[in-house]
Amino acid sequence: MPLFQKKKYIKISPNRSVIEDKIANPEVPDQLFAKCPKCKHSIYVHDLGIEKICPHCAYNFRISAQERLALIADEHSFEEWFTGIETKNPLDFPGYLEKLEKMKAKTGLDEAVLTGKANINGHAVALGIMDSNFIMASMGTVVGEKLTRLFEEATRQKLPVLIFTASGGARMQEGIMSLMQMAKTSAAAKRHSNEGLLYITVLTDPTTGGVTASFAMLGDIILAEPQSLIGFAGRRVIEETVRQTLPDDFQKAEFLQEHGFVDAIVKRTELRTKLSLLLELHSGKGENHG
Ligand SMILES: [Zn+2]
Repeated sequence: MPLFQKKKYIKISPNRSVIEDKIANPEVPDQLFAKCPKCKHSIYVHDLGIEKICPHCAYNFRISAQERLALIADEHSFEEWFTGIETKNPLDFPGYLEKLEKMKAKTGLDEAVLTGKANINGHAVALGIMDSNFIMASMGTVVGEKLTRLFEEATRQKLPVLIFTASGGARMQEGIMSLMQMAKTSAAAKRHSNEGLLYITVLTDPTTGGVTASFAMLGDIILAEPQSLIGFAGRRVIEETVRQTLPDDFQKAEFLQEHGFVDAIVKRTELRTKLSLLLELHSGKGENHG
């Protein structure tokens, strides 16, 4: 046996699909450090704060529906509505039901939107929060149904509706059934509006496709989180169609505000205060505000 025999190492090839999945869905892992998808700094998770904002570049990490709820609603005020509506597989899309089970276990949600009633600084609202961790918060039949019922129940109880949108668009596994949700949710929003009730949307990163083309852009007041991606078709598809290079900030919240599609961009740290003020101003008890 030679004196300086070379040690043998086993090569471990990285699992590409896991890495690609992480790049496509930036989220804060449960570990001690997180890498900011925008400025690439490694950040001690504690330094992100409960709002999960990068201290270097102010990037807003994507947060779960439960985290959003904790940031926005008064403690213990949330009452969940419309649970247990079962998602079917109308097209017999291969592997769809298994994927749903995985997503339910991963997120603790039964679908990509959490719906219910909550108080914000004492103001009651019908609240919908979409969660991009659940199949990129794509809108299938159940997401559409839960949001429609949210508008209908809010109309009955004369409550304002507040929806935090996030979505990759319609859910391809449900085909045309997903597309029908655009008309259904929009009609419910209109009936709520006909009763003179307030509807606020907060567009978060990313809000795209059929969700943008329906209830997300129908708010009486449309707010957005800084730097959120908001659009209908993808950038490359538009560039190829119009044969033009689009500006760098195209489809960013700031670009949409400049062009009149968004009323205000509100920092995550200020959202709760701003929403509470808007709800108060529109509560019909605003005589003292002049
Ligand atoms: Zn950053």
